[in-house]
Amino acid sequence: MKTNLYPARGRLYLKNKKYKEPTVCPECGLVFTGGKWKRLEEKPEGEVNMELCPACRCIRDKYFAGVLRINSDLVRTKNEEIKNLIRNEEEKTQRVNPLRRVGKIEEDVEKGKMVIYTTFEHLAARIGKALARAYKGELEIKYKAGVKAVRVWWKR
Ligand SMILES: [Zn+2]
Repeated sequence: MKTNLYPARGRLYLKNKKYKEPTVCPECGLVFTGGKWKRLEEKPEGEVNMELCPACRCIRDKYFAGVLRINSDLVRTKNEEIKNLIRNEEEKTQRVNPLRRVGKIEEDVEKGKMVIYTTFEHLAARIGKALARAYKGELEIKYKAGVKAVRVWWKR
Protein backbone atom coordinates (compact mmCIF):
# COMPACT_ATOMS: atom_id res chain seq x y z
CA MET A 1 0.00 0.00 0.00
CA LYS A 2 1.32 3.43 -0.88
CA THR A 3 1.48 5.94 1.92
CA ASN A 4 2.22 9.54 1.16
CA LEU A 5 4.11 11.67 3.56
CA TYR A 6 1.82 14.42 4.57
CA PRO A 7 2.51 17.43 2.32
CA ALA A 8 2.68 21.03 3.53
CA ARG A 9 -0.32 22.10 1.51
CA GLY A 10 -2.28 19.24 3.06
CA ARG A 11 -1.47 20.66 6.43
CA LEU A 12 -2.68 24.06 5.32
CA TYR A 13 -5.94 22.90 3.88
CA LEU A 14 -6.66 21.16 7.14
CA LYS A 15 -5.67 24.11 9.28
CA ASN A 16 -7.51 26.74 7.29
CA LYS A 17 -10.61 24.78 6.68
CA LYS A 18 -13.64 26.35 8.29
CA TYR A 19 -16.14 24.08 9.97
CA LYS A 20 -19.65 24.94 11.03
CA GLU A 21 -20.23 24.87 14.75
CA PRO A 22 -20.93 22.43 16.09
CA THR A 23 -19.53 19.81 13.71
CA VAL A 24 -19.26 16.20 14.82
CA CYS A 25 -16.81 13.76 13.26
CA PRO A 26 -18.78 10.62 12.31
CA GLU A 27 -15.63 8.51 12.55
CA CYS A 28 -14.10 9.38 15.94
CA GLY A 29 -16.79 11.54 17.57
CA LEU A 30 -14.70 14.66 18.14
CA VAL A 31 -16.68 17.89 18.19
CA PHE A 32 -15.65 21.16 16.55
CA THR A 33 -16.76 23.97 18.81
CA GLY A 34 -15.23 27.26 19.94
CA GLY A 35 -12.85 27.09 16.97
CA LYS A 36 -11.27 23.78 18.04
CA TRP A 37 -11.74 20.04 17.79
CA LYS A 38 -12.42 18.64 21.24
CA ARG A 39 -13.32 15.40 22.90
CA LEU A 40 -16.54 16.14 24.79
CA GLU A 41 -18.27 14.04 27.41
CA GLU A 42 -21.64 15.07 26.07
CA LYS A 43 -22.38 15.42 22.41
CA PRO A 44 -24.11 18.62 21.29
CA GLU A 45 -27.87 18.36 20.98
CA GLY A 46 -30.10 19.26 18.06
CA GLU A 47 -28.91 19.96 14.53
CA VAL A 48 -25.24 19.27 14.06
CA ASN A 49 -23.04 19.32 11.00
CA MET A 50 -21.37 15.96 10.33
CA GLU A 51 -17.93 16.03 8.78
CA LEU A 52 -14.66 14.15 9.16
CA CYS A 53 -12.16 15.79 11.49
CA PRO A 54 -8.66 16.56 10.14
CA ALA A 55 -7.13 13.51 11.85
CA CYS A 56 -9.67 11.11 10.34
CA ARG A 57 -9.17 12.78 6.95
CA CYS A 58 -5.43 12.21 7.20
CA ILE A 59 -6.02 8.58 8.05
CA ARG A 60 -8.53 8.14 5.23
CA ASP A 61 -6.26 9.89 2.69
CA LYS A 62 -3.13 8.18 4.06
CA TYR A 63 -1.41 11.52 4.50
CA PHE A 64 0.67 10.86 7.55
CA ALA A 65 2.98 13.49 9.01
CA GLY A 66 5.11 10.97 10.85
CA VAL A 67 6.42 7.53 9.98
CA LEU A 68 8.37 5.46 12.47
CA ARG A 69 10.02 2.23 11.38
CA ILE A 70 11.00 -0.25 14.06
CA ASN A 71 13.41 -3.03 13.37
CA SER A 72 13.93 -5.17 16.45
CA ASP A 73 13.36 -8.58 17.97
CA LEU A 74 11.31 -6.78 20.57
CA VAL A 75 8.46 -6.57 18.07
CA ARG A 76 8.20 -10.32 18.55
CA THR A 77 9.34 -10.78 22.15
CA LYS A 78 7.73 -7.71 23.74
CA ASN A 79 4.98 -6.84 21.28
CA GLU A 80 2.42 -5.90 23.91
CA GLU A 81 4.92 -3.81 25.86
CA ILE A 82 5.88 -1.85 22.74
CA LYS A 83 2.26 -1.22 21.86
CA ASN A 84 1.60 0.00 25.40
CA LEU A 85 4.47 2.43 25.06
CA ILE A 86 3.02 3.68 21.76
CA ARG A 87 -0.43 4.08 23.34
CA ASN A 88 1.06 5.96 26.30
CA GLU A 89 2.78 8.49 24.06
CA GLU A 90 -0.38 8.87 22.01
CA GLU A 91 -2.46 9.49 25.13
CA LYS A 92 -0.04 12.12 26.42
CA THR A 93 -0.12 14.10 23.18
CA GLN A 94 -3.89 13.68 22.84
CA ARG A 95 -4.36 15.55 26.08
CA VAL A 96 -2.85 18.55 24.31
CA ASN A 97 -4.69 18.02 21.04
CA PRO A 98 -6.99 15.08 20.21
CA LEU A 99 -6.10 15.36 16.51
CA ARG A 100 -2.63 14.01 17.26
CA ARG A 101 -2.81 10.29 16.93
CA VAL A 102 -1.47 7.03 15.66
CA GLY A 103 -3.31 6.44 12.40
CA LYS A 104 -2.08 3.01 11.55
CA ILE A 105 0.33 0.31 12.66
CA GLU A 106 1.66 -2.30 10.26
CA GLU A 107 3.75 -5.16 11.52
CA ASP A 108 5.56 -8.27 10.54
CA VAL A 109 6.05 -9.86 13.92
CA GLU A 110 8.20 -12.76 12.70
CA LYS A 111 10.63 -10.40 10.99
CA GLY A 112 10.66 -7.98 13.94
CA LYS A 113 9.32 -5.10 11.90
CA MET A 114 6.70 -2.55 12.80
CA VAL A 115 5.74 0.69 11.06
CA ILE A 116 3.79 3.37 12.91
CA TYR A 117 2.05 6.17 11.04
CA THR A 118 1.04 9.32 12.93
CA THR A 119 -1.11 12.31 12.05
CA PHE A 120 1.25 14.63 13.93
CA GLU A 121 4.93 14.66 13.04
CA HIS A 122 6.29 15.04 16.57
CA LEU A 123 4.34 12.03 17.80
CA ALA A 124 6.45 9.67 15.65
CA ALA A 125 9.58 11.32 17.04
CA ARG A 126 8.29 11.10 20.61
CA ILE A 127 7.56 7.40 20.29
CA GLY A 128 11.04 6.84 18.82
CA LYS A 129 12.63 8.71 21.73
CA ALA A 130 10.56 6.80 24.27
CA LEU A 131 11.69 3.50 22.71
CA ALA A 132 15.33 4.59 22.86
CA ARG A 133 14.91 5.66 26.49
CA ALA A 134 13.33 2.37 27.46
CA TYR A 135 15.40 -0.07 25.41
CA LYS A 136 18.46 1.87 24.14
CA GLY A 137 19.22 0.86 20.54
CA GLU A 138 19.79 3.26 17.64
CA LEU A 139 17.47 6.11 16.86
CA GLU A 140 17.48 8.25 13.74
CA ILE A 141 15.12 11.16 13.24
CA LYS A 142 14.90 13.05 9.96
CA TYR A 143 12.72 16.10 9.65
CA LYS A 144 11.89 16.94 6.08
CA ALA A 145 13.00 20.50 5.32
CA GLY A 146 10.18 22.95 4.70
CA VAL A 147 7.49 20.37 5.34
CA LYS A 148 5.89 19.35 8.60
CA ALA A 149 6.88 15.74 8.25
CA VAL A 150 9.30 13.41 9.92
CA ARG A 151 10.68 9.96 9.33
CA VAL A 152 12.06 8.01 12.26
CA TRP A 153 13.98 4.76 12.45
CA TRP A 154 14.67 2.77 15.55
CA LYS A 155 16.52 -0.49 15.67
CA ARG A 156 17.90 -2.67 18.37
ZN1 LIG B 1 -12.43 12.16 13.47
